[in-house]
Amino acid sequence: MTLSFRADLHCHSSSSDGTLSPTELIDLAIERGLSAISITDHDTIAAYDIALPYAKEKGLLLGSGAEFSCSYKRKSVHVLAYDFSFSSDVISSYCQKLQHRRTIRNKEILDRLRGLRLPITEEELFITGTEETIGRPHIAKAMMQKGYVCSVQEAFHLYLGDTKCCYVPGVPFPVEEAIEVIHRAGGKAVLAHPHLYKDFGFGKEVLSIGFDGVECYYARAPLKEEKRWIHLAEEQGLLISGGSDFHGSIKPYIPLGCSFVDRERFFQIFTTLSL
Ligand code: AMP
Ligand code: ZN
Ligand code: FE
Ligand code: FE
Repeated sequence: MTLSFRADLHCHSSSSDGTLSPTELIDLAIERGLSAISITDHDTIAAYDIALPYAKEKGLLLGSGAEFSCSYKRKSVHVLAYDFSFSSDVISSYCQKLQHRRTIRNKEILDRLRGLRLPITEEELFITGTEETIGRPHIAKAMMQKGYVCSVQEAFHLYLGDTKCCYVPGVPFPVEEAIEVIHRAGGKAVLAHPHLYKDFGFGKEVLSIGFDGVECYYARAPLKEEKRWIHLAEEQGLLISGGSDFHGSIKPYIPLGCSFVDRERFFQIFTTLSL
């Protein structure tokens, strides 16, 4: 029996807020029978230094990827970048700008926590020590380790969630700029997890500003939701992407490969991948 081709195009490594190193992620993908993945770390492509030669050695297809934290009309929008070239520094320069935003934002979040007598130092935010990107999950984990909360979920629920007292949005990075940067690097811009917006109209509006595709298959999104986005993508001639948004043990309820695309969709996105 030949196993069907499955590609998980949304997962995070320890270069951002995932708990597995790039090589562990590739080993797990192979163990789960996946044919391809894309590592879509938040605002960094650092994992690829190690992941590219390792995936080649192990025979797993690895498509270039990243997930950028942007905003549209003051709402947070995640932009997936795929199939871009590593040969220019367009993507890495953009990542540096996003990292600067995060450094300032993290300091502001820690200031707010200190104001509530929940002090955490910047050094305490590292989980593996190899992170390029530090975000709210790192802060949540540090809060747990210091006994301020019982779980990462509780940290988000009480302090760090988008409407909670210690949430700081940071300097907004327009979605339009991310799309332009991705295109300059020869890549495709895909709207991440539109299922997470309460308002379907908002997702539809964002999608119309120049995206090449939409992440229709997502984590454990209900089939009805996925169908709605597939229908829209087909109607508008957009690429259809999908992935688990795997983060490792920090989100143990999301297994690698729980959402994926087939061979045809994979190669529609990764048109420049050399085999
Ligand atoms: P940041 O990039 O710093 O804004 O953090 C966003 C990340 O935090 C997301 O990509 C999720 O991985 C995680 N996250 C957001 N909300 C929650 C939540 N309620 N519980 C657990 N993790 C969350
Ligand atoms: Zn994340
Ligand atoms: Fe996201
Ligand atoms: Fe993600």
